Amino acid sequence: MPGKIMVIGSSNTDMVIKAQKLPSPGETILGGEFHLFPGGKGANQAVAAARLGGEVFFVARTGNDVFGKQAIEQFTKEGIHTRYIHTDPDHPSGVALIMVDEAGENIIAVAPGANAQLKQEDIDEAMREMETVDIVLLQLEIPLSTVHYAIKKLGELGKKVVLNPAPAQALPEELFKHLYLITPNETEAEILTGIRVTEEETAAKAATALREKGVKQVVITLGPRGAFVLTDSCNKLIAAPKVQAIDTTAAGDIFNGALVVAIAQGQSLEDAVNFACRAAAISVTRLGAQASAPYLQELKQV
Ligand code: ATP
Repeated sequence: MPGKIMVIGSSNTDMVIKAQKLPSPGETILGGEFHLFPGGKGANQAVAAARLGGEVFFVARTGNDVFGKQAIEQFTKEGIHTRYIHTDPDHPSGVALIMVDEAGENIIAVAPGANAQLKQEDIDEAMREMETVDIVLLQLEIPLSTVHYAIKKLGELGKKVVLNPAPAQALPEELFKHLYLITPNETEAEILTGIRVTEEETAAKAATALREKGVKQVVITLGPRGAFVLTDSCNKLIAAPKVQAIDTTAAGDIFNGALVVAIAQGQSLEDAVNFACRAAAISVTRLGAQASAPYLQELKQV
């Protein structure tokens, strides 16, 4: 049985130029290679969940432009329900302009565009789907006021709400008690708790501090080490499979997409984190963000 999942978040188009060196202000560099990639944390997580067998509803805003149209076409190909993706008449689709040099150093500028216009009314409309949705996943690339509104409303309805608090930022204290699960990485856990997270012991301390704020369950991702889980009945590090990583872009997004699929299917949080670690480990062995998200069939083979 596929679990029904709602992802509320951002969709971006990443425009990447790979050049020998990064330009200085006022300088023009010739001879780079151009690549266009679909991105945005919301979109990455929605695609990851859909590829792993989730029935996914994506709530987002794109612009009335070629990037928005391409993104929606891509979501449809991935089997994602797009009826709650609004085309904003006044704002362009979100884009990230990225330049990478030969050493892998980058400079990035992001114009959130329509992502910054995702509003309470978009959440209210998506509420129509709530009777059948098992779990809702959000991140922080859309307005915090919208994230807060959605979490409070869904929490009060008794829905399972998962917040991946990325990119890192402080959150209103009131929000935590509505969360079924929070999934920070090390940096985000430190911003939220003030505890510097470097390994299992400090992750356990930060997870405890987050539970004290009112979150029911905590998963702190620890890169190649895996993820630390803290619930009423589980308090342990789940190790990541050892792989040859070549590109960790969006590892956290693939992890979160996989995690909600497994939870929606009724797996325990410990089993779900294991599943998510396996999915993310596959993704770091290949290039790209959405492109690196594995299909269910691939997980069955490892
Ligand atoms: P990113 O910003 O790259 O998307 P993140 O900082 O949000 O990632 P991480 O904690 O780095 O999140 O990684 C998320 C999960 O991906 C980890 O918990 C782990 O399961 C998996 N992972 C990341 N890096 C590796 C690696 N080198 N080998 C195996 N698994 C990895």
